[in-house]
Amino acid sequence: MKIRISTLSYDGLPLEFTLDLEPLNIRVNEGDSGGIVFLEAPTVNIVARATEGGASVLGSVTAICQQPCSTCSESVRHTMNVPIQWTLLPRSESVAQSESFDDVGVITYSGDHADLEDALQEALILNLSPFWHPKRDDEEKCLLCDKQCGLSWKAEGEDTTSIKALLAKAAEKKKTR
Ligand SMILES: [Zn+2]
Repeated sequence: MKIRISTLSYDGLPLEFTLDLEPLNIRVNEGDSGGIVFLEAPTVNIVARATEGGASVLGSVTAICQQPCSTCSESVRHTMNVPIQWTLLPRSESVAQSESFDDVGVITYSGDHADLEDALQEALILNLSPFWHPKRDDEEKCLLCDKQCGLSWKAEGEDTTSIKALLAKAAEKKKTR
């Protein structure tokens, strides 16, 4: 999605569009995503406003993705909403490109068009966490994946089962003696 800076007003231009799903998923899977997949084209709701020397973009991007619960590893579908708050500045020759990209929330553009697709994909990917798990209720039950995560996590621990097995073996030996 490209926006034309010179057409923006100080009042702001509301924009609603979707991000292409395929390039986003290709990008997610470039790294070790741990089985995270976006299921639907994310929806972008932003207002682009002219500022002195550039523009500002405010809003959010909403996506539905599927990923393993970090506790029970069941694949769970969930919605993520990432706030967007950017300053758009023209890429000047004097400022090194790497320097300007280091500024958090600053997007640079050259010419009259700013391409937001890349930055929007990044905003989503940076908000993914391999440690994500659904909210849990009072009984430690995952509210989305419907498992008792707190319990299954303990039960699946190898140490507990092997200790139990050792104790059982020891008890049997005592009996036979
Ligand atoms: Zn779970």
